[in-house]
Amino acid sequence: MDHQLVVYNTLSRKKENFEPINSPFVGMYVCGPTVYGDGHLGHARPAITFDIIFRYLQFLDYKVRYVRNITDVGHLENDADEGEDKISKKARLDQLEPMEIAQYYSDRYHENMDQLNCLKPSIEPRASGHIIEQIEMIKKIIEVGLGYEVDGSVYFDVIKYSKTHEYGKLSGRVLEDLLSNTRDLDGQSEKRNPTDFALWKKAQPEHIMRWPSPWSDGFPGWHLECSAMSTKYLGEQFDIHGGGMDLLFPHHECEIAQSTACNGKESVKYWLHNNMITINGQKMGKSLGNFITLSDFFSGENKLLEQAYSPMTIRFFILQAHYRSTLDFSNEALQSAEKGLKRLMTAMDTIVNLKSSETSTSNIKELEKKCYDAMNDDFNSPILIAHLFEGVRIINSVNDGKESITAEDLTLLKKLFNDFAISILGLKNESLKNNNDLPDKLMEVILNLRQTAKTNKDYATSDKIRDELKNINIVIKDTKDGAVWSEEN
Ligand code: ZN
Repeated sequence: MDHQLVVYNTLSRKKENFEPINSPFVGMYVCGPTVYGDGHLGHARPAITFDIIFRYLQFLDYKVRYVRNITDVGHLENDADEGEDKISKKARLDQLEPMEIAQYYSDRYHENMDQLNCLKPSIEPRASGHIIEQIEMIKKIIEVGLGYEVDGSVYFDVIKYSKTHEYGKLSGRVLEDLLSNTRDLDGQSEKRNPTDFALWKKAQPEHIMRWPSPWSDGFPGWHLECSAMSTKYLGEQFDIHGGGMDLLFPHHECEIAQSTACNGKESVKYWLHNNMITINGQKMGKSLGNFITLSDFFSGENKLLEQAYSPMTIRFFILQAHYRSTLDFSNEALQSAEKGLKRLMTAMDTIVNLKSSETSTSNIKELEKKCYDAMNDDFNSPILIAHLFEGVRIINSVNDGKESITAEDLTLLKKLFNDFAISILGLKNESLKNNNDLPDKLMEVILNLRQTAKTNKDYATSDKIRDELKNINIVIKDTKDGAVWSEEN
């Protein structure tokens, strides 16, 4: 490979050359959503971040197995293993079966991901479908002396683990600080230490989601599913583990402890984390009253939104920041993303009809190299976008007759936009001309006009519409549910 990809590893806190364990195969595990509510910007950012990583690795001819889980059990209301299961709670409030909640919100999530043009992961396992694997993992952790049972629940012994391993190495937390900062729950907790975390929880009588285990009828701890499913599908050691920075602690720190306890070695080579999105400088949250779902963005129906924003505008807005930088939402920022995207897409329409000359005034080969360099530098999408806009400038200049381009360079420039804007950044032209539904929409307009004419007893016009459509081989049939159209054979 000509180009060396460099990635920032959260674990080593530095950029490292990307060298897969078993090149050209790459295993990538990304923590997916807990499905108990509508998708929002906080879901869009990791999905889009790891989508461009997935796309770019494939573009570089790696064979990527991308696993993104769905959490449908075990994620409790707080990180201290207390409170109700998030999905159970929603099910109780809506008087539905928990799996109905999980199904409904996974479907909504997939719909949003399709709208944002995120490729589907290779495998999308669910926590509830991997209870056996999780129980087996707990058995192993108990066997090596790092898990203990109290009254049907099993906890991970962080203090004991930290005697031989560095607990906190990913998140930079120090165990002593954690211990002194954690309030002991008046001796109510079953845990030996407040830093210990649940591997298995005994279900209270009212808890609906429960499975039999050697310890009790209960359910797995949230952190366990990712260790169990990543090991199952990617092996004991794999290349990339990703997720949002909010998952660094405790979730990912606990995953490292579990996998290391089970497999006797580190499982992840590169830890990649995307930064958070704030809304007008504030963290987004239902309680803060600044919660905007993705459907709200697409419809514009939210008091914080001045207008609707298309899925590609949201995608472009997210890609305009490097994934490790914070990103602040505002109407102004989204409106400027919308303009930028339009400029880019218009240039891609213009390039199709561009005329070539004997000479080129720009160095397209050099521009292509810069695009690769940007992506190879830890997937730097904002720098890549800046280079694409240099391409836009060239296209517009040539179109205006101020600059020239050779046929060879023109082909290269078209390829550059197809590769980087479409294949890698995953942008697509949302204009009507590129919309597959356009014929149906137009026919609906025409048939409605014909119906109005008939209602007004203006048969001359309604017959004219029918005849002219017939001239282009479209046949109208009147049925009791209204007129339908088809192509004449
Ligand atoms: Zn996870």
